[in-house]
Amino acid sequence: MQNVVILGTGGTIAGTGADPDRVWDYRAGQLSIAQLVKAMPDLAVYPTEVVQVAQVDSKDMSWQLWQDMGRELQRQLARDDVSGIVIAHGTDTLEETAYLLHRLVDGRKPVVITAAMRPATAPDADGPRNLLDAVRVALEAARRGLGGVVAVMHGGVWAGSQVRKMHSWSLDAFDAGGQAPLALIDAQGQWHDEVASWPASGNAGWWPLNLTPPRVEIIHSHADADGWMVDAALAHAHEHGPLKGLVMAGTGHGTLHKGLEAALAKAVAHGVTVWRSSRVARGGVQSREGDAFVACGELTAAQARVALMLYLMGV
Ligand code: ASP
Repeated sequence: MQNVVILGTGGTIAGTGADPDRVWDYRAGQLSIAQLVKAMPDLAVYPTEVVQVAQVDSKDMSWQLWQDMGRELQRQLARDDVSGIVIAHGTDTLEETAYLLHRLVDGRKPVVITAAMRPATAPDADGPRNLLDAVRVALEAARRGLGGVVAVMHGGVWAGSQVRKMHSWSLDAFDAGGQAPLALIDAQGQWHDEVASWPASGNAGWWPLNLTPPRVEIIHSHADADGWMVDAALAHAHEHGPLKGLVMAGTGHGTLHKGLEAALAKAVAHGVTVWRSSRVARGGVQSREGDAFVACGELTAAQARVALMLYLMGV
């Protein structure tokens, strides 16, 4: 028997609200993963086990929670009787967790992250279908020999390296920055391939999670961005410990206000590594000749922050 282990971490998928008609008025991370699974008879036909790793609103995600998640993942992925993992997560930082895990895992088994845009008490709760799809995807991917990190939301299977939240309330809230989904799962649970193979995993191993992460912050470029935030960050770092990296969420193709550029020259002189991403949702930032700062490709600013932390750790 090949098991799917479902890790619970909280999120809206485990959220409850007092009034089912006020779906926006709820608290994330209230029901345990065991309670969620028990309430889904459709899941009972699949061989699942549950582990509660955390119980948070994922807006409060932290390095420490990623360490806890990583330890549990290592343990479960090493089991011969486990064919895949599902992580029930919040939507807010799903793209950061997915990208981090994509960089670390070896891709031998599927790690499927899912979430929900409506709490479990909402009349149109999307958590049950997403969780069911995620378990099916884990089993089917394992059967096909596909591994690595993917996100399953609203019938789409998205690459963990690319997935991002694109809408603040729609049930269809995720995409891959304009890239096609890897597969679609229809309402009957049938799998429809959109691409021939899944992206290769980063395979860095779990050791980065044992380290204290270097401090990397994100700063936006915008009208009147005169470098005040960069100066403030440098002054704070001077008092409270080193700032190692800055990800700039630039305008358009990663361009920066001239006021910011001047301040960033000071940051670089203080040993801060600066990377450029874009505040625009799609298209990303490609490198250009004479670039002062590394371009982050199609990563969102939040994913680029994870990438820069890993880079500074020597990954
Ligand atoms: N704030 C929630 C979370 O990220 C939102 C969600 O799950 O949809 O945990």
